[in-house]
Amino acid sequence: MRDRPDVLVIGAGLAGLSCARTLRRAGKSVRVLEASDGVGGRARTDVVDGFRFDRGFQVLLDSYPEARRQLDLAALELQRFVPGALVRRRGRFHRIADPLRQPSALVGTALAGVGSLVDKLRILGLRRDAARGSLDELFARGETSTAERLLRDGFSPTMIDGFFRAFYGGVFLERELSTSSRMLEFTFRMFATGSASLPAKGMGAMASQLAEGLGREDLQLGVRVTRLEGDAAHLADGTAERAGHVVIATDAGAAATLAGSPETRWRGTTCLYFACERAPLDEPILVLDGDGSGPVNHLGVLSVVAPSYAPPGAHLVSASVVGDAATRPDGELEAAARVQLEGWFGDEFRGARLLRVVRVPEALPRQDVPTDAREAAPRSLRPGLWVAGDHVATASIQGALLSGRLTAEAIVAKG
Ligand SMILES: Cc1cc2nc3c(=O)[nH]c(=O)nc-3n(C[C@H](O)[C@H](O)[C@H](O)COP(=O)(O)OP(=O)(O)OC[C@H]3O[C@@H](n4cnc5c(N)ncnc54)[C@H](O)[C@@H]3O)c2cc1C
Repeated sequence: MRDRPDVLVIGAGLAGLSCARTLRRAGKSVRVLEASDGVGGRARTDVVDGFRFDRGFQVLLDSYPEARRQLDLAALELQRFVPGALVRRRGRFHRIADPLRQPSALVGTALAGVGSLVDKLRILGLRRDAARGSLDELFARGETSTAERLLRDGFSPTMIDGFFRAFYGGVFLERELSTSSRMLEFTFRMFATGSASLPAKGMGAMASQLAEGLGREDLQLGVRVTRLEGDAAHLADGTAERAGHVVIATDAGAAATLAGSPETRWRGTTCLYFACERAPLDEPILVLDGDGSGPVNHLGVLSVVAPSYAPPGAHLVSASVVGDAATRPDGELEAAARVQLEGWFGDEFRGARLLRVVRVPEALPRQDVPTDAREAAPRSLRPGLWVAGDHVATASIQGALLSGRLTAEAIVAKG
């Protein structure tokens, strides 16, 4: 029988690691049990032949308060996208810039072929709304779906279809915009006040940093918890671990199995990674499908944003598919994506090699109306049993980190 730590944390994603680190800093002994072969959960990076493949395209917003609080952002060497996006619509690229961050781009933005000048002014209004009050207050506001909220604000159907469906399709992983308006305001605030970025070593670098200092006894990989009973966590190998407190910091699906809470419904995505000899686009900017013709909803040339994502002489393109299209078989998806992207970039894309297809059917817990989306609060199921993770906060890196920290602080407060 091994030592009994003060706290067992199940899952070494961002929530579990944030929880473990906060506990350790408060002097608690912690053991993290992780079912897979590495840390990071949904935010992991695989390095193969000099390419960095995040497990699905995602970005860290450097405005996330918890990222600023818990991560050493300088050590992550963040490589930033420029604000705004290039929207492909009706055979042309249109630049949508953020007029508050780049006032010089206002004229180009106002005249871009997506939405009217009035729409662009409404963006300023939405931005003002999103910036109002604390995040707690934002999440306490009434909610509707994002689509209804945008219509109510008076955005034109062209702006909604040409920009919001693609941009928020990428953020929420759904183009119907049925996600809560609270998440619209929350993410809008984060995009307006920060930059979308990639750590130079990939999204997995966040978890590596949080796990620093956890020894082999403290962090055990390849250990799956199958059942919880009293203060015992039963493991797949038939043994059990005990602790004063147990934190279920798994994804929502595993948490439902362990805690008997309701099943989670997910948003999924599929990411196609292509290698090109020459970059099809030499700007670190997000590219969006404003026509909705698909299958690719959003795209980035990651090696232009972060040169460390590809070996010398190569470029890495990440093309993401959301909604039902994400479930199409690999061959079909690749063929359709090639037609679309050759239409966008012509010869620059023609020789692209498909390197990898990353399927993430369980990427984000749905946050449709009525939603649980909130600034996290510690959630205790019974004395000594806690649940942390993005699904008890916001489906985001911010939510996972915050939920982990607050859970740890609540445990520390129990003495
Ligand atoms: C493709 C994709 C794109 C995204 N884009 C963004 C973005 O741009 N910006 C953003 O802020 N967020 C984004 N997210 C969301 C963000 O990555 C997640 O919200 C966050 O990583 C969730 O962390 P977590 O710790 O709550 O859960 P997870 O990362 O799911 O960690 C849970 C851990 O528990 C382990 N586990 C599960 N069951 C068991 C068990 N029985 N025993 C032991 N261990 C177990 C798992 O292996 C996993 O390591 C994206 C996610 C995906 C997948």
